[in-house]
Amino acid sequence: KEELNMIQGALELRTKTVEDVMTPINNCYMIHSDALLDFNTMSEIMESGYTRIPVYEDERSNIVDILFVKDLAFVDPDDSTTLKTITKFYNHPVHFVFHDTKLDSMLEEFKKGKSHLAIVQKVNNEGEGDPFYEVVGLVTLEDVIEEIIKSEILDE
Ligand code: ADP
Repeated sequence: KEELNMIQGALELRTKTVEDVMTPINNCYMIHSDALLDFNTMSEIMESGYTRIPVYEDERSNIVDILFVKDLAFVDPDDSTTLKTITKFYNHPVHFVFHDTKLDSMLEEFKKGKSHLAIVQKVNNEGEGDPFYEVVGLVTLEDVIEEIIKSEILDE
């Protein structure tokens, strides 16, 4: 039964898209690029429980960096280091994908190993102005794997 589910899940990788399995932007835990890494901010980041946190500038849809929680290992909250100092130092690439990317190609991308998290974007051509890229969520390797095994992976 479980094997059958997994085969079904694997077959669906060709038809389902990242938009079907992503975490929508409104549910993403993100941090403003101007943040100060004081005790409060660092506690909040730790309590969020996420290992990778998108960094935005001005508005939440403008993702400019990714902070890894492990980047904070040498940060002393009493030094009031700016987040920018840290993101500039580590300079992790931000990996973008289109909302209609199929899960099998997403899995291939993740397998290449550059990053196991991608920011999902869509072309917005509603309204009067020129079309623009709009961030709609984030997707990780775990979201794709859950789709294959068809059950929730519980975090530690
Ligand atoms: P983590 O290692 O941070 O737990 P995972 O890659 O294991 O992240 O993903 C677990 C789930 O959490 C996935 O559904 C993913 O979309 C979601 N997720 C990952 N990072 C964030 C974040 N910063 N904010 C909200 N959801 C996130």
